[in-house]
Amino acid sequence: MSSEGPLACPRCATKYSLEERFCSECGMPLVYAGRGEQKPITDAHGRARKVKPQYTEGELVRVAGGHNQAEAEMIQGMLLEEGIPSILRRTRGFDVPDFLAAGPRDIMVPEAAYEPARRMLLDADIVSNGGAPDALPGIGSPARLLIGVLIAVGGAALLVWLLYQATG
Ligand SMILES: [Zn+2]
Repeated sequence: MSSEGPLACPRCATKYSLEERFCSECGMPLVYAGRGEQKPITDAHGRARKVKPQYTEGELVRVAGGHNQAEAEMIQGMLLEEGIPSILRRTRGFDVPDFLAAGPRDIMVPEAAYEPARRMLLDADIVSNGGAPDALPGIGSPARLLIGVLIAVGGAALLVWLLYQATG
């Protein structure tokens, strides 16, 4: 897979084909190694320089979703400002042809960048805790407490009713 190609890892210089997005050794986003194409080299190098190496460790995990390619790319840009590399994946289960910009995207980041990415996106109101019940354990507590009180009150009322039936 990592023989020859127009892409290269900015850290270890391994060459990759266009299908690859990250170096399989370092996890670094690949850049154009191209000959003479000054513009893509400059842009890609600029992007690669922003990436913090400590955010490139680990498996790719889904940190957020975009409703379409444009929104997902906007989120990618925000992550990159924090030094977080990311890739986009078409969200599974949406049968939109690959060449269309429509359809939701998953934004994947290396595991090491998940927490800072999540925090940053939460601050920016890009993601919510709605789908992640274990993210903020405190939030569910008042509701659970209320349900507990209702069950306790209901149980007491039932007991009173039963006693009333027995004595009456
Ligand atoms: Zn590499």
